[in-house]
Amino acid sequence: MLLHEQLGIHQVRLTLPFRLNHVNGYAIKGSAGWDLIDTGLSQESTYEEWLQFFKEQSIKPADIKGIYVTHFHPDHYGCSGWLQKYSNAPVYIGTIDAGIVNRYWKNGDYILRAMTGLFKDNGMPEELIKKAVASLAKMIPYTHPPADMITLQAGQTISLGDYEYQVIITPGHSDGHICFYNQDHAVLISGDHLLPEITSCISRWPQPEMELNPLDNFLRSIDKIRSLNCKLVLPAHGKPFTNTEERIRQLENHHKERLALVKNSTAGGANVYQVMRQVFSQELSDHEIRFAFTETLAHLVYLMYKGELMTVSKNGIDIYRQCGA
Ligand SMILES: [Zn+2]
Repeated sequence: MLLHEQLGIHQVRLTLPFRLNHVNGYAIKGSAGWDLIDTGLSQESTYEEWLQFFKEQSIKPADIKGIYVTHFHPDHYGCSGWLQKYSNAPVYIGTIDAGIVNRYWKNGDYILRAMTGLFKDNGMPEELIKKAVASLAKMIPYTHPPADMITLQAGQTISLGDYEYQVIITPGHSDGHICFYNQDHAVLISGDHLLPEITSCISRWPQPEMELNPLDNFLRSIDKIRSLNCKLVLPAHGKPFTNTEERIRQLENHHKERLALVKNSTAGGANVYQVMRQVFSQELSDHEIRFAFTETLAHLVYLMYKGELMTVSKNGIDIYRQCGA
């Protein structure tokens, strides 16, 4: 029996309508009932996928004891409100991301206006702003019905199934991202913090509320995971993996290379949109443009805090240039 099966952990594949075509929910069986981790988008196919799993495992609504969400993104938080209605179970999320859910997903068109401002101030052409914001607007229904949330603190111990896990705060991919770690078996349920095949998007969202330097947070957070010496990582996308140290090194190298590329793209001065077009040369969907743009911004800001880049404002648009150039 595989290690995660010994701990009662089942992976539940939930379909996404994007190039990244699935997210893994986890369902953990214990003597008192089941705990769920990450929930998929609130959409018909996700409801059916959960119901199918519940049927296979003979899970009744009252058997679901808790619903845990690693971060505020719609493919993780989105279906938690629907699952809560179905089961009456409490929904748990980290304190910081609970605040972001309230600001972004429960606050009318606030996030659409904030994102429009961010794109505009950083050089994205008007036509593209409309498309990228329309694609973000499509995400909001995937987060309804909203969940009543209970917040988790860093360092808190919780029971998932019959085992204890520590809540570890791992900011970067989102400001308040959390992972769950079982120390006795060195098993980490990693959400989007540590993924086996793709690098999780490190993005800077509109200010003023959001973290100023998410990439710095991310690099610190993966270093923190290194010291746990995890034997098994259960990610939200892709298969369980064991080569944690190697994967952390690959991610550090990826960001090092990306930083060099981003820095080179600012030779002569460039805004975020111009740098993004150089760094992401492939065709991007309206959905992917948002990630590419906010990730480029996160790398530029990281270099600025390191003292390698500076900004000047030109006609209301921030231009990044190399210090001393
Ligand atoms: Zn995510």
